[in-house]
Amino acid sequence: MKIVVALGGNAILQRGEEGSAEEQFAHVTSAVARLVDLVSRGETILITHGNGPQVGDILLKNECAAETLPRMPLDVCGAESQGMIGYMLQQCMENALRARGIERSVISIITQTRVNPLDPAFSHPSKPIGPFFTREEADAHVREQGWSMHETGGGDARFRRVVPSPEPLDIIEHSSIGALSDEGFIVIAAGGGGIPVYRTAEGALRGIEAVVDKDLAAEKLATGIGADILLILTDVPGVYLHYRTPEQRLLADVTVQDVCTWLAEDRFAEGSMAPKMRACMRFVEGGGQKAIITSLDLVDQALEGTVGTRIIR
Ligand code: ADP
Ligand code: MG
Repeated sequence: MKIVVALGGNAILQRGEEGSAEEQFAHVTSAVARLVDLVSRGETILITHGNGPQVGDILLKNECAAETLPRMPLDVCGAESQGMIGYMLQQCMENALRARGIERSVISIITQTRVNPLDPAFSHPSKPIGPFFTREEADAHVREQGWSMHETGGGDARFRRVVPSPEPLDIIEHSSIGALSDEGFIVIAAGGGGIPVYRTAEGALRGIEAVVDKDLAAEKLATGIGADILLILTDVPGVYLHYRTPEQRLLADVTVQDVCTWLAEDRFAEGSMAPKMRACMRFVEGGGQKAIITSLDLVDQALEGTVGTRIIR
């Protein structure tokens, strides 16, 4: 079975943590322990991951060093975060496999995700990223960097940069990723949704200031390489209908048609569960066998079909 595993932000860094390398290595070590079980059972896995907290830290470093060093554009920051997280996953996974006597190589691929520069998202930047700024700082960024800023929360520093979150069209490296996976490598790819790029009229690739949702990119990767299962691992046991209300109900087996109806009725939160459900729906519609949403610690039972939310045809 070919499984694309999408690891949520919590698998690497948890809210409120300092973000030290030690903390991140510790989380990655326990996350990969679950994935090694899949490999030992003979499944072919490809790993993708979020990068929100890490890219946030990189952007903050950009600001702290702005007097001395040029700010790196968002695509370069995304690449940096893929390298950093990919390295941690790659090393921890290799160590975990070795400890279990499994001889497999793990490789991370710096991955670009193609978007349409005419995507309507570019006229409505909506995804908050990086540090908080005061009104004066925010005004300066609008003037000097041309950023879009959004006012959030309270306090003095309550402005944040917002960037477009366009739809992913395809994964530029999908054939190399597929070939490496077919060769037996455990591939880590499309981290943070991939680096958003577009093609110029001449066909050249160029980075663009945007963020692609990691679950939507995971679907493009999974469909692109012909995976059987899309496994989205987050910090809840599954998807709830009427989430956080007295009628809350955990969904088990649901059809693409159900998901399509619920999405049209806006039943899931944008920015968290809606993109996951959209990704699962597209994956199954695109020929995938099933998509599963569950938490990292329930992987085994979820694949057996006893827990989690499964989206099937
Ligand atoms: P990840 O880093 O894994 O992508 P997200 O925070 O984007 O994590 O999405 C997971 C979160 O979605 C959960 O922590 C939960 O609070 C939230 N959530 C929103 N709506 C739902 C829902 N209908 N069912 C379950 N969880 C939901
Ligand atoms: Mg998310």
